Amino acid sequence: MPGRVLVLMYHRVAVLPADPQLLAVTPERFEAQLGVLRASGLRPTRLSELASADTWPESDGVVLTFDDGYADNFLHARERLVRNNMPATFFIATDCLGGRGEFWWDELEGLLLADPTAEEGAGAWDVLRPPVSPRQQAYLDACNLLRPLPKGERERELERLRASAGGKALARELFRGLTEDELRGLELPGLLDIGGHTRSHAQLSRLPVEQQREEIQGGAQLLARCLGHGVETFSYPFGTSADFTSQTAELAREAGFRVACANYPDFAQVRTDPMALPRCIVRNWDGPTLAAQLDRWRAGQF
Ligand SMILES: [Zn+2]
Repeated sequence: MPGRVLVLMYHRVAVLPADPQLLAVTPERFEAQLGVLRASGLRPTRLSELASADTWPESDGVVLTFDDGYADNFLHARERLVRNNMPATFFIATDCLGGRGEFWWDELEGLLLADPTAEEGAGAWDVLRPPVSPRQQAYLDACNLLRPLPKGERERELERLRASAGGKALARELFRGLTEDELRGLELPGLLDIGGHTRSHAQLSRLPVEQQREEIQGGAQLLARCLGHGVETFSYPFGTSADFTSQTAELAREAGFRVACANYPDFAQVRTDPMALPRCIVRNWDGPTLAAQLDRWRAGQF
């Protein structure tokens, strides 16, 4: 009988001063999490195995995925995955390749929250908690404003916010994307794969079809040029049912992708649409917490 597969969703393996979007797992905890996954009895599985019933695993499995393309994927995640012989796929939003500039949500954090003179600062606050300060509210408002915008409009809004924060574009080392050399170094045939994630991390459902195509195909072409071969897997930026449509999935297929990951928790099963695979978000949990969460997921509690 075909197995049920938990596709796990990570973003960063890093220690951050503030993490309002809850994107980072510390290297130490990531190491512990890999130990838990290794001991779980779930078969480490490559995402590409979920592309068709012919390659679908026979036993229950786990797939690791990383979204966005932060440099720490190469600096901190890769060696730990290799040491634990754990397959993973890294989805790259190509505009941040090259290590210049920051993702817009990080820049908003830097511009609006990370002011050491502000007592409410970023600190331990995260977006799952209600905002308790005007800065936190301003940050949430700016996130909601920027998320649906096409690239050009988003850049204009960011420029406006930078100007009112009295500064220029942020480019903090801790928040940079992969360089092209790091991207090539991240890949390891048979174990570590690269996939697409659009060019500008666009909320695809909000864009006209031509812009969606440009985001999806443009990102895929840039990755292919950099890696010297095409990529087969994709994840929808943000990834909820509000963030992509059946037309988006069709465009992803047209761009050559055979598997696409969404962002809603469930098992992936052989009957699941391979162009909208569910994923479960892993937070900065210690080993026992992940083990308990795995037990709940395996019991069908999502
Ligand atoms: Zn993303």
